[in-house]
Amino acid sequence: MILVLKPNIDESTREFQRLESHLVNLPNIEFRVHKVQGREQLLTEIYLIGNTAALALDEMKSFPGVDHAVRVSEEYRILGRHKDDNRPSNFTYNGVNFGQDTLNVFAGLCAVDSPESVEAMMKGLQENGQVCTRMGAYKPRTSPYSFQGHGKNCLEYIFELAGKYGIKVISMEVTHESHVDEIVEALRLTGDPTGVMLQIGTRNTQNFELLKIVGRQERFPVLLKRGFGITLDESLHAAEYLASEGNHKVVFGLRGMKTNIGDPHRNMVDFAHIPVVKRLTRMPVCIDPSHSVGTRSRSSDTILDIMHVTAQGVIAGANMILVDFHPFPNKALVDGPQALRMEELPVFLEDVRLVREAFEKRVQLHRGESTAVGS
Ligand code: PEP
Ligand code: MN
Repeated sequence: MILVLKPNIDESTREFQRLESHLVNLPNIEFRVHKVQGREQLLTEIYLIGNTAALALDEMKSFPGVDHAVRVSEEYRILGRHKDDNRPSNFTYNGVNFGQDTLNVFAGLCAVDSPESVEAMMKGLQENGQVCTRMGAYKPRTSPYSFQGHGKNCLEYIFELAGKYGIKVISMEVTHESHVDEIVEALRLTGDPTGVMLQIGTRNTQNFELLKIVGRQERFPVLLKRGFGITLDESLHAAEYLASEGNHKVVFGLRGMKTNIGDPHRNMVDFAHIPVVKRLTRMPVCIDPSHSVGTRSRSSDTILDIMHVTAQGVIAGANMILVDFHPFPNKALVDGPQALRMEELPVFLEDVRLVREAFEKRVQLHRGESTAVGS
């Protein structure tokens, strides 16, 4: 059960102390206090764990200071969407809003190879009004002989250039806890010119110790990618590891499933699960068309498959797009062949805008219909 306190109630108030003294005496119930940044205020929530079936919702709601109480199902306790659950699903990080009703584009380098590539990428993003990007510094590779990313050696120039070109959030994969420390240190050395969203890649979706460490820090939001060979339910539980350790700023990423049934695409595109994740949880949903499709193949209509699946994700309500671009694809050290080119960025963004508008019109259309049929 979750008790959502009224906006002005926190540990320093008499109402909180009265509630706390009641909670400590409840048999077989433990509780944890969480702070949640709503759109306007910092809210306090109390998570009750244990034999909560024995507690009456109405009684818990009646305590002064409690705004409302939510009985949660066993599944996805913190990030899940429960009955009568109107807790906020948005969070703001470094001035950028993330939620199930927003859309942010993270176009950028799969892997950072040189300061020149980073600068050309960020300059192009700024010219096209973009404030988010992807920059891979730590690359999990199938072969130990493949380029592993420049790691901490590239962080300072990435962050400095981000500051120069007004980039607010960089999605960056981490595969080990030391990478988080290296990011913190490089941000400090460069004077915090930008923000970072820690990306957990598909190969680490169930690396529970990494999830716990990344979940314990609340400075950086997290993009958790769906595991490529496990069920959706298992990946959603992985997201819950992050939240149960304290970090609720979690975006869930769809990136395709590994199976030859998806051939000739690199993975089987799974964007039909966008509405499913939005129904089951309060997480914003990201799509990665580049790692799903994995080629620059074009249909007879002249549109790239990557752009087609991006549109399929956006029309289904995606909230974030992580997409590989490269200003000099021939020089890319990872995934150059699937990267979109800088000159394709304006068309990509315009396509996304068109489809997002169509999605918003669809929501209006179906809202009327669902009110009429009552479900
Ligand atoms: C990536 O986004 O760079 C990446 C490696 O993706 P994934 O973990 O989905 O394979
Ligand atoms: Mn890649």
